[in-house]
Amino acid sequence: MIKEKAERLINELPKGVKLLAAAKERDASEISEAIKGGVTLIGENYLNDALRVRNEVTEKAEWHFIGHLQRNKVKRVIDIFDMIESVDSFRLAKEIDKWCQKQDKVMPILIEVNSGEEDQKAGVAPKDVIPLIKDLSTLNNVKIMGLMTMGPRFGDPEDSRPYFRKTKQIFEQAKDLDLPNVEMKYLSMGMTNSYKVAIEEGANLVRIGTKIFGKRERDKY
Ligand SMILES: *Cc1c(COP(=O)(O)O)cnc(C)c1O
Repeated sequence: MIKEKAERLINELPKGVKLLAAAKERDASEISEAIKGGVTLIGENYLNDALRVRNEVTEKAEWHFIGHLQRNKVKRVIDIFDMIESVDSFRLAKEIDKWCQKQDKVMPILIEVNSGEEDQKAGVAPKDVIPLIKDLSTLNNVKIMGLMTMGPRFGDPEDSRPYFRKTKQIFEQAKDLDLPNVEMKYLSMGMTNSYKVAIEEGANLVRIGTKIFGKRERDKY
């Protein structure tokens, strides 16, 4: 019933909020069903997962990279993804810029914010986001289109609210800078458990897996 779940969720979201289906561990037929239900954005955490399903999914969608990206994977990632939501260092962005330049293309990226300032989590510390965006605005083959955050995991989504709010504040600050190669358009935050709170705090892109596809079998993420 993936198709129906996707349809229901899309109808439930306020206008202006985009849905990305977080497709880790799902096979091509499940992803196709979600697209048939109206999903236009598919998120993958690993290059190999995307390579496995990408050719089998014949329905049209935009593919977003949402996992931790290693620099040695960049070359292949830019070939099959339409946006990279998880850029968290100048070095990584520089690598993306380099390969995009060779292909004469511009990659839309989001900066991943470690809004909970958790040691083990990917992402840029809140205080470092604006300086990083300023540095990245000098690169012509990446285009900064907003911010992404996971936030700490809580049982009660209310506990996520301060982290979403903090990320939204940085988003507005970055927007006000009005920098070249920066168009602060997307604020990607909120997952199955927390998307309602995230939307209340300004998310306009939500990344949802479980609520569309059901529970993952091996929840290693
Ligand atoms: C898995 C994942 C999601 C979605 O998680 P659910 O709780 O299944 O909705 C969102 N964002 C990222 C980066 C993920 O890895």
